[in-house]
Amino acid sequence: MKYALLDRGDPLSRELSEQFHSLAAAKGLTPDDTSPDLVLSIGGDGTLLQAFHRYRDQVKRVAFVGVHTGHLGFYADWQKNELAELVELIATKEPREVKYPLLQIEIISDTSATSYLALNEFTLKSVDGTLVAGININDEPFEMFRGDGIVISSPSGSTGYNKSLGGAVIHPSIEGLQIAEIASINNRVYRTLGSSVILPKHHHCDIVPDPEEPLFVGIDHLVLQMTGVRSIICRVAQEKITFARYRPYTFWNRVREAFIGSGTDKV
Ligand code: NAP
Repeated sequence: MKYALLDRGDPLSRELSEQFHSLAAAKGLTPDDTSPDLVLSIGGDGTLLQAFHRYRDQVKRVAFVGVHTGHLGFYADWQKNELAELVELIATKEPREVKYPLLQIEIISDTSATSYLALNEFTLKSVDGTLVAGININDEPFEMFRGDGIVISSPSGSTGYNKSLGGAVIHPSIEGLQIAEIASINNRVYRTLGSSVILPKHHHCDIVPDPEEPLFVGIDHLVLQMTGVRSIICRVAQEKITFARYRPYTFWNRVREAFIGSGTDKV
């Protein structure tokens, strides 16, 4: 078993990283940053996003495991005091592989067409203020958006930026994408649907901005600045991310713990 490890870089995550390497060496696991079977992230969801983007070209063959060090840790299901158990299971047990949908974003400009994969979401904002962009669903005009921006999220990204915008939380076994608005302008002159929209896997949406408008394009935690964008095609990717589960994990427990708390209040 070859593994790669990324940590958040803070003292606790670095210390846990060192511990992991020693425990793994004792169990005969081999560190390999180039072509690992398993990618571990120690930190939070932000660290797992970085790990995903570092290994996205190998996403069809690697599996991911997250250890969280105190933050939200939606993708990280192991606690800091469970490293020895985790290493033992990695060395001895075949994990259950759980696959989550990813987003594919194709950005078409005058000179190029570039494809990106996102684990959480794709975000579009204007550099200069109000974003004006047409939204087409399955090649039919749907609405003309005016406002602060648009977030297209994956099911597992639905608990991230999307949730802060009032979007629905979607179970990652549902293959689809969600379009959420950031502060759309709605009045007698300008009108958008105003609620988030969930598309199934066989649908796609295109965002058509003014090519003269400079844009901020967010792919998870990464932000690029672009001009000359003619259209952005968003769909559920063919590829999926694989998580190695060495013990049961319940998505809805994670949602409750992260957003409601684990109090025992009864109705
Ligand atoms: P960050 O601004 O340092 O952290 C954003 C927060 O979002 C962290 O608490 C992070 O958890 C959490 N998070 C990330 N992915 C999540 C998910 N799938 N479900 C629930 N929470 C999640 O940025 P970052 O650490 O580089 O993460 C980038 C992500 O931040 C983006 O993909 C976006 O989803 C989110 N974001 C949210 C808002 C908002 O809610 N207004 C605005 C911008 C970006 P950890 O603490 O465990 O890392």
